[in-house]
Amino acid sequence: MKVRTVPEELQILRALNYRKLLSNKDKNKYINAEKGYEGECKFDEWLSPLISGKIVLNDLLLEYNNSIFQIDSLLLTTENIILFEVKNFEGDYYINGSEWYSMKGKVINNPLHQLHRNTVLLRGLLNESGLKLQIEPQLIFMNPLFQLYQAPIEPPIIFPNQLIRYRAILKKDRSFINDKMKKIAKHLLSLHLDKNPNSRSPKYHYNELQKGTICPSCHQMYRELTKTILVCGSCGGTEHYEPAILRTIADHQLLFPDKKITTDEIHQWSGKTVSKITIRKLLNKNFKQVKCGPSTYYEIRVQT
Ligand SMILES: [Zn+2]
Repeated sequence: MKVRTVPEELQILRALNYRKLLSNKDKNKYINAEKGYEGECKFDEWLSPLISGKIVLNDLLLEYNNSIFQIDSLLLTTENIILFEVKNFEGDYYINGSEWYSMKGKVINNPLHQLHRNTVLLRGLLNESGLKLQIEPQLIFMNPLFQLYQAPIEPPIIFPNQLIRYRAILKKDRSFINDKMKKIAKHLLSLHLDKNPNSRSPKYHYNELQKGTICPSCHQMYRELTKTILVCGSCGGTEHYEPAILRTIADHQLLFPDKKITTDEIHQWSGKTVSKITIRKLLNKNFKQVKCGPSTYYEIRVQT
């Protein structure tokens, strides 16, 4: 009932990564976000043959008791709600006491604490609305290159080499969608927040960002236009200018939602590889023109 999309935070980090040199801290944040999202997509693919008779809600952002919490995936079955915390860790890690460490000795956030917190908050949220169904928390590691040493037997962890067995267990489940499940799913969807007030994007300014239209194959800027085709000087890739400029406008809206879209603005933002006349034509075709005194700007056309 709720499909996964690229989180906005990752979209912003992607757009910035191609247009400026990120600090080490932001680069790490970007790499981790990209990796996490890749793991979640792998998980979706793994789960998709097992969802018949069940309801899946991905990437829910909820609030309970003034605490915001994000759930990677919920699987509603007839008997319970399986709450998945999906991780795509790679390499060797170990547990010492209640702390998790990378092999370099760096402490990492204990994913079991996160799983426990999410379970408690979700339970509270459901109890509050009188919708009770048992919650089964599962921490699931998708990356076959992950190894955890000194892992206790108790906690609900599914390691990459247990995925096949766990899938067989889920396959046996004979759930069917009933009114209670539908009601819980609808309720959670109605509480889903679009924006996480705690998420922090790196700081950036218009002037420091490289202007241009990005080649989707190698992520370098297109340098020339031959008739209607943009040609990448780096990888030799080619593309019609229209989808490329529309993508560039989408980046502009993502990074500067308050800045007005005008022909001059997009001409400059897209690196001046495409003429102003062509940009104006493209804006007129795809956006709603708004006249404001002597100036004209463009807005997204609302579908009716
Ligand atoms: Zn290229």
